Amino acid sequence: MSVAQIDLHVELKKYFGFSEFKGLQEDVIKNVVAGNNTFVIMPTGGGKSLCYQLPALIKEGTAIVVSPLIALMKNQVDAIRGVSENDGVAHVLNSSLNKTEVKRVKEDIRNGITKLLYVAPESLTKEEHVEFLRSVTISFMAVDEAHCISEWGHDFRPEYRNLRHIIKRIGDNIPIVGLTATATEKVQEDILKSLGIPNAVKFKASFNRPNLYYEVRPKTKNVDADIIRFVKQNEGKSGIVYCLSRKRVEELAQVLQVNGIKAVPYHAGLDAKTRVKHQDMFLMEDTDVVVATIAFGMGIDKPDVRFVIHHDIPKSIESYYQETGRAGRDGGEGHCLAYYAYKDIEKLEKFMAGKPVAEQEIGHALLQEVVAFSETSVSRRKFILHYFGEEFDNETGEGGDMDDNVRFPKPQKEAKDDVIKVIDVVQKTNQKYKAKDLVQVIIGKSNALISSHKTDQQPFFGVGKDKDARHWMALIRQILVGKLLKKDIETYGVLRITEAGEKFMTAPTSFMMAEDHVFDEATDDSIIT
Ligand code: ADP
Repeated sequence: MSVAQIDLHVELKKYFGFSEFKGLQEDVIKNVVAGNNTFVIMPTGGGKSLCYQLPALIKEGTAIVVSPLIALMKNQVDAIRGVSENDGVAHVLNSSLNKTEVKRVKEDIRNGITKLLYVAPESLTKEEHVEFLRSVTISFMAVDEAHCISEWGHDFRPEYRNLRHIIKRIGDNIPIVGLTATATEKVQEDILKSLGIPNAVKFKASFNRPNLYYEVRPKTKNVDADIIRFVKQNEGKSGIVYCLSRKRVEELAQVLQVNGIKAVPYHAGLDAKTRVKHQDMFLMEDTDVVVATIAFGMGIDKPDVRFVIHHDIPKSIESYYQETGRAGRDGGEGHCLAYYAYKDIEKLEKFMAGKPVAEQEIGHALLQEVVAFSETSVSRRKFILHYFGEEFDNETGEGGDMDDNVRFPKPQKEAKDDVIKVIDVVQKTNQKYKAKDLVQVIIGKSNALISSHKTDQQPFFGVGKDKDARHWMALIRQILVGKLLKKDIETYGVLRITEAGEKFMTAPTSFMMAEDHVFDEATDDSIIT
């Protein structure tokens, strides 16, 4: 039977036992089966794996799946082996195999038994492997967690950078399938460019997780007590508490235990046996709570996690989204509670200090978004989806009332005149400033950059000095979310006026501004330096 005649539903049922495709899966799979370059952007849990697994099983030859984590590969191979009578249907090729094992893998591929070959990018740099793969039939190449290729992602891996050249060496015309759960425009661009597939057909699923409730609380010194109270209110439910440092993980796990909560710690500093034990305890429900660093969670598919608490705010919205995404995977309730203090942002900035400048700039830009998210008064869901390039309407969208800012709105005030002031200054300065410098211009404080442009001699310099920097910064964030201004990606965040912004200026309309929370350590200056 030719590939064109295959009934995908029959194959889906046969291999995976599912009766229906999820979301965009069927369209993606058709495109992959047809041999086109494909780009899949789906949130975690969206069902990305099937998008390459099913085509691999159907098509002639072996599909190579590049994946960054050995543990993840192993899970996937075990799962795929479960759908076939022959263990050789899926293999891993990595440095953990001995010579005999490598020989067996290659034999299975040569004999057409292996449909999926999972490799770590570094294994693909081995000349002997590349030579071998050149000599066999490759159906397509799937690059999982493709955001690892981009420095703008939350998980950049230098080994991913070379993939394009290696793929080309294995075969000139091998179709490429990139998959990721990171949806920012910059990362998407990087992926397509780095993989050399600018014309890939793009499939992007919605990132909305309507059953998750998002909440941010100011972080005070009573945070532990607050967490204990929250967990006790949710007694018997499974949850994850993320902390930045191993030390904090240990301490907090103990504090919870002392307070009668079934909790275990998890971080990369624990020995492998303890880690596996604690992970299993969580999966088997012998413990309610795992207190963990971000080392915990990748590839863990526990469907009924009822809450994810961030004791410390993560370093990017992507990380936050990934980590909170582990709640409510079964579609049931999932409470995402993050504690935020500006001093934690400063701590994260300090960590970046020794890194190359470009990396620091990126890290800084990502952190600014986290600040904006934490301090915003607009719907958290709307904010997150906006970040991922989706417009969300809280009135009509699913889960529209599922966040603190919607349920308990902060007071609003008319800010039309101030919005006009901001956009007017952006226009008069020829759209060349980033938010923090623009705020300085508005409040009439010069700096080296501003004086080099002589902007401090302009009549509009200080046009908003009757209000503080905090007000203008908060307003700019809300204008960005409202799409009257946008940040230019190439220039790391220079503000530009959008079409909607131009329209607003010719016929200004009401612009309600929500008054932001005051977060303890965040002073006027600290927020903008
Ligand atoms: P992702 O890689 O996007 O995070 P996975 O591929 O791990 O997502 O899939 C998430 C879950 O959805 C898995 O438990 C998987 O078995 C399940 N799944 C995938 N496709 C389907 C489908 N068509 N019908 C039902 N369940 C599915």
